[in-house]
Amino acid sequence: MSETETRIAAARPGPAPKPWIAAIHAYVPGRSKGKDGRPLIKLSANENPLGTSDAALTAKAQGPALYPDPDSTALRAAIGQRHGIDPARVVMGTGSDELLNLAAQGYAGVGDEVIYVRYGFAVYDIAARRCGATPVVAPDADYGTDIDALLALVTDRTRVVFVANPNNPTGSYLPKGDIARLHAALPSDVLLVLDQAYGEYVAPEDEDGALALAARHDNVLVTRTFSKIFGLAGERIGWATGAPGIIDTLNRIRGPFNVSATGQAMALAALADTAFVEASRVHNRDERARFVASLAALGNDGLRPLPSQANFVLVLFEGALSAEAALEGLADRGYIVRWLPGQGLPQALRITIGKSEDMDAIAAVLREMAEAAR
Ligand SMILES: *Cc1c(COP(=O)(O)O)cnc(C)c1O
Repeated sequence: MSETETRIAAARPGPAPKPWIAAIHAYVPGRSKGKDGRPLIKLSANENPLGTSDAALTAKAQGPALYPDPDSTALRAAIGQRHGIDPARVVMGTGSDELLNLAAQGYAGVGDEVIYVRYGFAVYDIAARRCGATPVVAPDADYGTDIDALLALVTDRTRVVFVANPNNPTGSYLPKGDIARLHAALPSDVLLVLDQAYGEYVAPEDEDGALALAARHDNVLVTRTFSKIFGLAGERIGWATGAPGIIDTLNRIRGPFNVSATGQAMALAALADTAFVEASRVHNRDERARFVASLAALGNDGLRPLPSQANFVLVLFEGALSAEAALEGLADRGYIVRWLPGQGLPQALRITIGKSEDMDAIAAVLREMAEAAR
């Protein structure tokens, strides 16, 4: 380096991230170990307690030396067939997380607004900020999605609205009529992203009509995932469907080989194993009801499980026992659940529905702690 070059190098600062990137609070994943590093039974990330379908586990993929099919052709065809969707209207993602981020990036930028509800999925805030858009947070209605509060925040700058149905971490659910009303009231140039990560847990008769909206309208994107009921969280596979224009936008900016060959093969097999999916749904429905009933039986101890249509229950601690103390008590007994003070929920624990014996044990620990705290 010449003397001048050295002087210039010394005087200049290092690379500065864009201010909207620097403002992001990184996603905090569910823990699987206690503070002392001991492995705990993990009910903090909404994974399937029944594991993965054997058919998926034994699915054969091409060897790892070759790139995967960049268009996930067979998998999109199978998804299309299952849901009555033209495969051309389906795009795959590295988890639905990738697709949520691409939806924001494709349609919003600096100066634009992205709306979601308070106690919505943590990725929406990151997705909005990543592309420089301004996140706009709508107030909740007793932890549920308040459509009118959300609509009241729509402006000329609104580009994307995110709604998870069922919602994570609250478990709350909007029926079909509410989703239709939300869509009908939004301007046609606002992209409505309906995140159905837990859609398969909902009883078929309670289905929210999101896929039909995505089939009929130009401003609706529905996202789904293989991470939850299909038990493939480790493989990172999500999909989305919407109008051809939206799918084209996401295809332009997604990773070209964004789903691995193994992931495509496993998802294809998992989709075909309808018995495993149904067993997972029924297990979750029954264990969730049993767990909620056992907490309700505690009576006046201030533990309030919110109604949930998902594979977890958000329990509010409104009495003498705090959520933080319950978190520690459960960890002492070998269970890790999700405490979300960073999302404005220091008063709650999100507990994934696990195996029967684990739900019994958790209910017993909570009962004991609530009685001791009286
Ligand atoms: C788990 C979850 C997702 C998806 O995760 P991927 O593993 O990236 O598919 C998306 N939305 C919500 C609301 C979730 O809880």
